Amino acid sequence: MSSADLRDLYQQVIMDHNKKPRNFRDMPDSNHLAHGNNPLCGDALVVYLKLDGDTIEDVSFQGSGCAISVASASLMTEALKGKTMADAEALYELVHKQMTGEDVDTAALGKLDVLSGVKEFPARVKCATLSWHTVHAAMESEQDSSVTTE
Ligand code: ZN
Repeated sequence: MSSADLRDLYQQVIMDHNKKPRNFRDMPDSNHLAHGNNPLCGDALVVYLKLDGDTIEDVSFQGSGCAISVASASLMTEALKGKTMADAEALYELVHKQMTGEDVDTAALGKLDVLSGVKEFPARVKCATLSWHTVHAAMESEQDSSVTTE
């Protein structure tokens, strides 16, 4: 597949997740949650987590934002369900490195590799990482917590 075809495919996946976000719902029995805001773009998300010990039993989100922020949150919830918190942190590190232009093992990223295109648009990196910062805050806190990207 040429790199142009790959870009088209990535674009399609992002559009699909923006139009039909996965795990886009409230979670009344969540035991961790955090709010994330990206004032530069106006993205505002809530991430809900249901942790069973160290395992992410369920993860969902709500809110509104640009296509990149919504698609990224949707892809993230799919990737994190059933993972341990340590796995989630490792994935977060990987996603962050990739979006800031470092070389990473793309096989380990799986579907999340579709977000790699944002590294060409530094202003959009905050949109794409917002949900990850937010889930990180949710894992660290027993209570409702808030993060704002800088
Ligand atoms: Zn945005």
